[in-house]
Amino acid sequence: MFSVALSNRIKNLPPYLFMEIDRLKEQVRSKGVDIIDLGVGDPDLPTPENIIKKLAESAADPANHRYPSYSGMNEFNKVVADWYLRRFGVKADYRSEVITLIGSKEGLAHFPLAFINPGDLALVPSPAYPVYNVATMFAGGESFFMPLTAENNFLPDLAAIPSDVADRAKIMFINYPNNPTGAVAGMDFYNAVVAFAKKHNIIVCHDAAYSELAFDGYKPVSFLNAAGAMEVGIEFHSLSKTYNMTGWRIGFAVGRAEIVAAVGKIKSNIDSGAFQAVQWAGIEALTGDQTVVADLMKIYTERRNVLVSGLNEAGLHVEPPKATFYLWIKVPSGWSSNDFTMLLLEKAGIVTTPGNGFGAPGEGYIRMTLCLPVDRLKEAVNRIKGVGF
Ligand SMILES: *Cc1c(COP(=O)(O)O)cnc(C)c1O
Repeated sequence: MFSVALSNRIKNLPPYLFMEIDRLKEQVRSKGVDIIDLGVGDPDLPTPENIIKKLAESAADPANHRYPSYSGMNEFNKVVADWYLRRFGVKADYRSEVITLIGSKEGLAHFPLAFINPGDLALVPSPAYPVYNVATMFAGGESFFMPLTAENNFLPDLAAIPSDVADRAKIMFINYPNNPTGAVAGMDFYNAVVAFAKKHNIIVCHDAAYSELAFDGYKPVSFLNAAGAMEVGIEFHSLSKTYNMTGWRIGFAVGRAEIVAAVGKIKSNIDSGAFQAVQWAGIEALTGDQTVVADLMKIYTERRNVLVSGLNEAGLHVEPPKATFYLWIKVPSGWSSNDFTMLLLEKAGIVTTPGNGFGAPGEGYIRMTLCLPVDRLKEAVNRIKGVGF
């Protein structure tokens, strides 16, 4: 009998966050319930027309049909460097300090392979996007979790990291504006991170996937705005959320040349770069009319306001986030994240994500996304008002 022997790498994976929810969702749906899915962070709105048009044109050009460069076209990397200067006032050399990614998840997942040896430590926030921990595990490393709590505005408490842990750590992940908490970070925090990283010789990886999804005129800064950040770190970005391009797979990273080159070394041995037609479309996204982003934020702002005020009326206490398309909601007292998620699913047909699914310190919260039209959010609020808790 032939048996498929899985690697420990696969056997040791934490359970897939959405698996149990998906199973229950199907069970509820099969009873004929109209499900409102506030679980997954995937924009429901289409990619802007000008970007689609550019893809179609570029896809027809045979020059784009061959293997792309694993590190990105010079044209795309240059547009990224120009965007960094325009948007953040950060100077980067497009030849050595910028790399194109097949979505930022690809880069984040490959990042630890460049810096982590078996047994090495990574500092990983918790709750967090699961990729940081899993990618560390895949590289044979171990995560030391930095809890993100309301008391510390969902920023890691650097002073609470034991100094032997800090000295052993090779890399640190941070992510602001934050998924799943919606928290934001400012220069004071980034300056403290740079000082900490220098003291303990830790490479910093900042995931800035949501830097352009900010409300009420707020403009997130870049980690690379902190003095010395370019010496210790790299920042990952994505076109996915800003331009509704999650399906297209295009992102980029900017940082110290040796760090960028090391990520490139891993990539050149694994993939061949993003489809050039998608890179041309990405150039159109970053250089074209930016009112598409302002229009998108108007839509998210209305959705946020409707959902936040509706939930508060329903007896759930939630603050309006300054950025991202997530609401991080405290569950009513006496409930666990899991039980409250199940209650909303079974009694109201609403899918949310239990906070502890992003890490133990997320217990006591659920996450909702703003990736549905206002009428569906209003319907969700009405249903929640009918649930007893
Ligand atoms: C969506 C998301 C990403 C990844 O997006 P890509 O589509 O792979 O570019 C990265 N980090 C966080 C925190 C995200 O939520």
